[in-house]
Amino acid sequence: MVRYVYAFTEGDRDMADLLGGKGANLAEMTRLGLPVPPGFTVTTEACRTFLTTGSEPVGLAREISDRLAGLEEAAGRCLGQPDDPLLLSVRTGARFSMPGMMETILNIGLDDESVQGLAKSSGNERFAWDSYRRLVQMFGSTVMGVGSNLFEEAMADLKQDRGVADDLGLDAADLAELVETYKELIHQETGESFPQSPAEQLQRAVLAVFQSWNAERARLYRRREHIPDDLGTAVNVQTMVFGNLGPDSGSGVAFTRDPATGRTGVYGDYLANAQGEDVVAGIRNTVPLDELGRLNPEAFDRLRDHMVTLEAHYRDLCDIEFTIERGRLWMLQTRVGKRTAEAAFTIAAELTDEGLITADEGLARVGGDGLARLMFPRFDTSAVGDPLAHGIPASPGAAVGAAVFDSAEAVRRATVGEKVVLVREETTPDDLPGMVAAQAVLTSRGGKTSHAAVVARGMGKVCVCGAEEIMVDPQRRRFTAGGTTVEEGTVISVDGSEGAVYPGAAPLIDSAVMKYFEASEHTDGLVDAVARAMEHADRVRRLGVRANADTPEDAARARRFGAEGIGLCRTEHMFLGDRRQLVEAMILARTNAERERALTALLPLQRQDFTGILEAMDGLPVTVRLLDPPLHEFLPDRTELAVRLAAAEAHGSPPSEHDADLLDAVNRMHEENPMLGLRGVRLGLVAPGLVAMQVRAIAEAVVERRRAGGDPRAEIMVPLIDTVEELRLVRQEVEQVLADVSTESGVTVDCPIGTMIELPRAALTAGRIAEEAQFFSFGTNDLTQTTWGFSRDDVEAAFFSAYLDKGIFKVSPFETIDREGVGRLVEIAVAEGRAARPGLKIGVCGEHGGDPESVHFFHAAGLDYVSCSPFRVPVARLEAGRAALSGTETGDSR
Ligand code: ADP
Ligand code: MG
Ligand code: MG
Repeated sequence: MVRYVYAFTEGDRDMADLLGGKGANLAEMTRLGLPVPPGFTVTTEACRTFLTTGSEPVGLAREISDRLAGLEEAAGRCLGQPDDPLLLSVRTGARFSMPGMMETILNIGLDDESVQGLAKSSGNERFAWDSYRRLVQMFGSTVMGVGSNLFEEAMADLKQDRGVADDLGLDAADLAELVETYKELIHQETGESFPQSPAEQLQRAVLAVFQSWNAERARLYRRREHIPDDLGTAVNVQTMVFGNLGPDSGSGVAFTRDPATGRTGVYGDYLANAQGEDVVAGIRNTVPLDELGRLNPEAFDRLRDHMVTLEAHYRDLCDIEFTIERGRLWMLQTRVGKRTAEAAFTIAAELTDEGLITADEGLARVGGDGLARLMFPRFDTSAVGDPLAHGIPASPGAAVGAAVFDSAEAVRRATVGEKVVLVREETTPDDLPGMVAAQAVLTSRGGKTSHAAVVARGMGKVCVCGAEEIMVDPQRRRFTAGGTTVEEGTVISVDGSEGAVYPGAAPLIDSAVMKYFEASEHTDGLVDAVARAMEHADRVRRLGVRANADTPEDAARARRFGAEGIGLCRTEHMFLGDRRQLVEAMILARTNAERERALTALLPLQRQDFTGILEAMDGLPVTVRLLDPPLHEFLPDRTELAVRLAAAEAHGSPPSEHDADLLDAVNRMHEENPMLGLRGVRLGLVAPGLVAMQVRAIAEAVVERRRAGGDPRAEIMVPLIDTVEELRLVRQEVEQVLADVSTESGVTVDCPIGTMIELPRAALTAGRIAEEAQFFSFGTNDLTQTTWGFSRDDVEAAFFSAYLDKGIFKVSPFETIDREGVGRLVEIAVAEGRAARPGLKIGVCGEHGGDPESVHFFHAAGLDYVSCSPFRVPVARLEAGRAALSGTETGDSR
C-alpha cells in the first residue's frame, strides 16, 4: 500500500520530491539532533492523488491519526484536550519554494473550551487568547476564504477603541472579545461557524493546503517559472512552540552569513513575544539578531552553535527560522539561503578556503548573470536616502533622468539632450520611441516578462517594473510613492540591478569588478573572489571565448577581458561617416570605371581599419565578415529625399541631379522585407568588385602587419549562405585576390575562408557547405529569426510579452538559444559539417554567445568557441568553465 505520511524522524534532505523542501529539511535537522518540534509530513503524492481524484486519498485520515497519536504520546497531551491541549501548525511545502499557496496556520487545536485550558496550563491568559484569535483569523481567511482585510480592520478598530498602538497593548479580555468578533465575521461571510472540533480543523487545513496548489497566484508563478503543474505540495504538521509566551519568548530569522555581502557574522532579526510571521510582517519593529545575545545569551549561543552545524552540514549559506519559548530555543525551518551576486562570489571563495567545498563546487555556485550585474556601475547607497519604491529588477544597470509620463515627452526632451526616465503604469508598443529615447523605464505593473521588461532587456536599457507602491497619474503628469509626489521633470534614479528607485540624482560608483577586468586592479575581497572564480573557470573550460569587435579599441578591450580572438568583425560601420560619399558613388556608378574609382578610394581606408584591429589582436584569430546589410541602408531616407526634391520644385529651383539619381537608386533598391532581401553573400555576388575590394584590404593589411613584424591571423567569413554554390563562387573570387596580393607583395597570405551558418537551409545542408568552408560560425540571431519566422525588431515590441505571459516560451529565443528548434539545427550542422570535414572549426557569433544558458548548450553541442560583445566576455568565460563541470546546474545560485 502507498504510504502518505512520514514522521520528521523518518525522512532526510534527499527526499524533497516526496516531502517538499521544507519537510525534507525539517527531517534533516531532526536527524542532526537539532531541537525541532516533533511533527510529520504528508507527501506530495497524497496531494497529487487528491488533485487527480478530487477527494481525500483512501487511508490518509487513518495514517494522520496514527501519526498524531505518536505526537500526542510524545507530548503527553492530546489534540483538543480541554485542560492542556496539544496545538499544531499546518504548513505548505512544495519541492520548490513557491509563493501563492496557502499561508501557514498556527495553533490548530484551540476551541472555546481548550483556550481556557491553555490559559491555565500556561498560566498566561493573554497568551491563550492571543493564540486563539490568531487561529480563528488564519483559519477563517485561508481555509474558509474570508477576506483577511476584514480581520485586520476589526483588529485596527479595537486597537483604536482601546487607544493602543500595537497588538501588545491589547489584554486578554480584549483578545477574547476579538475572537468573538472574528467568529461573527466568519459566520456572516460564510454562513458557517468556526469549527469547534480540532480534528475537523486539522483535516480541513490539510485539504486546504492541497487545494491551494491550484490557487491562481501559485499557478501563475509556476507557469512563469516553468515549474510542472503536477508536482503537488507536501503538508507539514508540527507541534506548536510558542514565541508569544512573554518577554522571555520570541521568534526570529537568521542567516549563517550576510546574504547581501557574504561576510561571516550574525545576521537576522528577532522579535520578542511574537509568533511566526510577526517577524517579517512588520507589525512591530524587530531588533538585529545580536541583540538576542543580550536578551538571552544562552539561547543565542545555542543558536550560533546550530548555525555552525547547519552550515558545515549543508556546506552553504543557510537561512533559518527559529522560536524561543520561555528561554528554550526551537528550530523551525532551514534551507540554503538566497543571496546577492556579491555574496555568491564571496561565499564560494570563503567556503573553498575553509575546505568545505571544492573549487569546482565554488564555481558551480556562482554564475554569469550575477557577474554581469557586478560589472555595472552602482549607486552609492550610503549617499542616497531611502528608496522611493521597490520593483522587479528587470534589466540591470543604474540610470538617472527626469521622470516623464509619455513617449512623446520622452522623445521631445531627449532630442534636446535631456536624460529622461519613462514612467508608465505598463508599456505598450506605442511607447517604443519613448523607451528608445529614455535612460531607463519604470513601470508600476507587470513582471519580468511584461512588455517593458522584455523590450528593455532587448535594448540593454535599465528597467524596473512592477513597482507597485508607485501610483502613476499620466493625466496630471506625476506619480506618487509612499508620501512623495514626483512631478514631471523631477530627476529620479533607477537601479535596474536591485529593483530600486531613488529620489534625485544618486551618485554612481564604478564597479570594482569592472576595474579588475579593465586593469587587473585587485581592490577588495569581492574582486579577489571574482578573480578566483575566473581563474578556475579558465582552467577547466574547453570552449574558447572570442569577442565581437569592429574597432581597434573594442578589440583591445576584449583582449583585456580575456578574449582569445575576434569571432565577428563586422565591416558595415566602416562604410559610414565620411565614407558614405564613396559608398554612394559606388552604388550610383554607371560605368565600371566610376565604380572602380569609388572602390579604389575605399580600399586604403578599409585596409587601415583592418591593420589596427589585427594589431590589437596580434597573434590571435580575427574573423572578418564581408559586408552583410542591404546597400540601401547606406543611402539617404526615401521620404527625406522625395521631400527635398519636392521642396526644390516648389521653390522653382532645378532639382539636384545627384538627389534625383539617389532617389532613383533608392526606389530601385527598395525592399518590402530587407531582412530577407539583397544582403549577405547575395550582395557580394551581384555588386561587382565589392568582395574583391574587401578581401584585398584584408590581405594587404595582413602583409603590412607581417612586414611590421606582427603575427596577423585574419579569417574571412561569408555571411548569409543558403547553398554551397554561393560559397563556391565567392570563394573563387576570394582566393584569386589572396593569390594576387601574395604575388604582388611577395608575402604569402593564406587566410582561412569560412561561412556563417545563419539560415535553416545552410544548417540542413551543412555537409555540402563544409566542402567549401574551412570554418563555420553560427549567426544565431539571424538563425533564430529565420527559423521562427520572426523579425526581431517587430515581434519583441509587439507581442513577445504576451507570448511569455502565456508560457509559450520561458525566455525570448533571442536571449537564450531555443534548444529544441534552433539548437537542433545547430546540432545537425555540427554533426554533418564535421562528418564532411573532420576537425572543422565551429563557433557562434550571435548574442547568444554571451548568454549563460546558451553557453552551456554550445559547450554540449561541441562547438570550439563562443564569441560575444567585449563586455560579455567574462560572463562567457565563467559559464564555459561551469559548463565543463559535469552534472552542474546551469542557473545562478541566486
Ligand atoms: P513560510 O513558508 O511562509 O515561511 P512557514 O510554514 O515557515 O511559512 O510558517 C510561517 C511562520 O510560522 C514561520 O515564521 C514559522 O516559523 C512559524 N511556525 C510554523 N510552524 C510553527 C510551529 N510548529 N511552532 C511555532 N511557529 C511555527
Ligand atoms: Mg518559513
Ligand atoms: Mg546575420
